[in-house]
Amino acid sequence: MKIIIIPGDGIGPETMAVTSQVLESVSNKLNLGIELEQETAGHISLQKYGSTVTPTLLEKVKAANGLMLGPMSTYDFKDESKGEINPSKFFRKELDLFANIRPARTYPKVPTCVKPFDLAVVRENTEGFYADRNVESGNSEMLITQDVVISLRRITRQCCERIAKAAFDLAMTRKKHVTIVHKANVLKIGDGMFIDICKQVGEHYPEVQIDDFIVDAMMAHVVRAPERFDTIVTTNMFGDILSDLTAELSGSLGLGGSLNAGEQYAMGQAAHGSAPDIAGKDIANPFSLILSAAMLLNWHGQKTRQPQFIKAAQAIDRCVDQLIDLGEVTRDIGGNLGTKAVGDSFVKHFAKY
Ligand code: NAD
Repeated sequence: MKIIIIPGDGIGPETMAVTSQVLESVSNKLNLGIELEQETAGHISLQKYGSTVTPTLLEKVKAANGLMLGPMSTYDFKDESKGEINPSKFFRKELDLFANIRPARTYPKVPTCVKPFDLAVVRENTEGFYADRNVESGNSEMLITQDVVISLRRITRQCCERIAKAAFDLAMTRKKHVTIVHKANVLKIGDGMFIDICKQVGEHYPEVQIDDFIVDAMMAHVVRAPERFDTIVTTNMFGDILSDLTAELSGSLGLGGSLNAGEQYAMGQAAHGSAPDIAGKDIANPFSLILSAAMLLNWHGQKTRQPQFIKAAQAIDRCVDQLIDLGEVTRDIGGNLGTKAVGDSFVKHFAKY
């Protein structure tokens, strides 16, 4: 399995270095033959090649079996005509990574203010309110006059159907409960269609219980009782916001692993951003990226029917659990190890598996 590694900006290089170390040790221990190839995107690529991402990079990613994308300082990238392309959007759109799966669960030893829970947000990734990806060419946010802006949201039957199917398929491997999150009281046509299609798709999964919540009320429900949810399906921006909340409720945004998956390609990527406030301090939690790497291995194992990759993903999850139980973690989840020391600790414990 060849994986392209792009460290990213801010805390990206620190957390990706640890994730690469983890992937190498897992590959060696379990004989997986994983090959890591490091490439650049974001600020470094902009300085080097005049663009945050390049067509050559895309071809390399397409030729590999998976991509690990580090967090990017996307807020800095304002003008595509100057090469400032959001790498996250670029890969999601170019590789058609329509499903962003963001699991969140509590861990017995990580302090939280909620009851134990285990859920997954399934977020549509290719349209919605994301102006940089929902039109064929250009951008769907327009400056009409100096004082008037229009931002368009795109919702299509095809994207609703495929994200709904991804959610119900995932729910079948979990607790068989799908919650549809929407704003159909205001976005009556777009989110009305989203709900209808989710329910139609759900008819093919008679074992799965379905309910739905308006997104604003959902924020209250998920804070009050996250344990009542299992698989949550929603449109792009709602899913982006909701999944940061669920990651933080689990103890830290630094626990938020995520996979962007399509029919052909997949990209592991932490739920959080480049965290410039803690970059370079060796305090960032690498678990979000490590858990994302595990999700990528699992995806590859399912796709190519190679159970050893699925087992490797499960072993990584277990080792993360063990480090959390032992308190060998970064300070955001109650430990006192640095980012790099967490990687060393992972390798030490994984050697016993
Ligand atoms: P952020 O997600 O980077 O950070 C939010 C808060 O969470 C910060 O206090 C940060 O220190 C903390 N945090 C994040 N990851 C952590 C980790 N692994 N361990 C411990 N604490 C962690 O959000 P932001 O500061 O608003 O955004 C910074 C940049 O990241 C912006 O340019 C934004 O556009 C970009 N961003 C990129 C992505 C992505 O690449 N997928 C996602 C979100 C934001």
